[in-house]
Amino acid sequence: MHNLNAKVYVAGHSGMVGSAIIRHLKSLGYKNIITKSHTELDLCNQQAVQAFFSETEIEQVYLAAAKVGGIHANNTYPAEFIYQNLMMEANIIHAAHCHGVEKLLFLGSSCIYPKLADQPINEKSLLTGLLEPTNEPYAVAKIAGIKLCESYNRQYDRDYRSIMPTNLYGPGDNYHPENSHVIPALIRRFHEAKISESPEVVVWGTGTPRREFLFVDDMASASVFIMNLPKAQWQSTVNTMCSHINAGSGIDHSIRELAQTISKTVGYKGNITFDTSKPDGTPRKLMDSTLLRDLGWSPEHPLEEGLARAYSEYEKGTIRQ
Ligand code: GDP
Repeated sequence: MHNLNAKVYVAGHSGMVGSAIIRHLKSLGYKNIITKSHTELDLCNQQAVQAFFSETEIEQVYLAAAKVGGIHANNTYPAEFIYQNLMMEANIIHAAHCHGVEKLLFLGSSCIYPKLADQPINEKSLLTGLLEPTNEPYAVAKIAGIKLCESYNRQYDRDYRSIMPTNLYGPGDNYHPENSHVIPALIRRFHEAKISESPEVVVWGTGTPRREFLFVDDMASASVFIMNLPKAQWQSTVNTMCSHINAGSGIDHSIRELAQTISKTVGYKGNITFDTSKPDGTPRKLMDSTLLRDLGWSPEHPLEEGLARAYSEYEKGTIRQ
């Protein structure tokens, strides 16, 4: 099923998801993985992306390049989030089509779904309601990516697929104190509070929003699995008007529960308080990943184990700094 000699381009290889995809491809024995650093190739530059595809015979593309961030970053830099994501997706998907790339996997996000979508969120709820305002520009860009793939499939019979991960975490995450997602932000905050023996850790919002989390290596295995699914099987699972599939762990937790679990993982002994002046974002985000499960994929890393791995990576990083 796997063509281990295929020339596979992983866009976004230095990010958390792209690097996990590369780890997974290498573990399977892929021999021709192509990457380009940001200085070598600016994915927002259409001419540069076209030139790269014309000089490199690429057979498969994992489109894991994205401008990503947590609730605060999305709220603060909406222009960068919509512009950079639209440009990267449009440039790569169009160049892939122009240069005859047969297979492409676009990585999206669960925030493409309406803020108040029925839970667990089914693939079909896309564009059935208003989006969560804190990350609407990012979500609109990701919806455009799905629609780009669908449109090239419909008009040119391409086989471009899209996978929508739930909130991801793991090695290689962004631990910026304000701009990161909740798991890396809290790993850092609890770790720093432990080291400085601070009596309390402040968690944003009310603690009641619920989120589903997936360890990034599980997302990598789901991505490679979907890329390599036979076309007929993929097409009978989705259809041209709904060409994306969800990838989640199937379990959600309140932010309060998550904070308690991270506190335990880190070994912090103080109190947890909530800053309700910070936004909660969408009340609940649990995806329905039945389609992917029914195809035979399942995640392998429960939250506690994934958090322990992420924390151990984080500690190694902090020691290196
Ligand atoms: P979201 O899923 O797009 O809302 O992304 P986030 O991972 O940024 O936030 C998830 C939830 O965690 C939201 O309800 C946040 O308010 C809450 N949260 C609690 N503390 C933090 C924090 O320190 N950083 C972030 N990013 N979110 C936090």
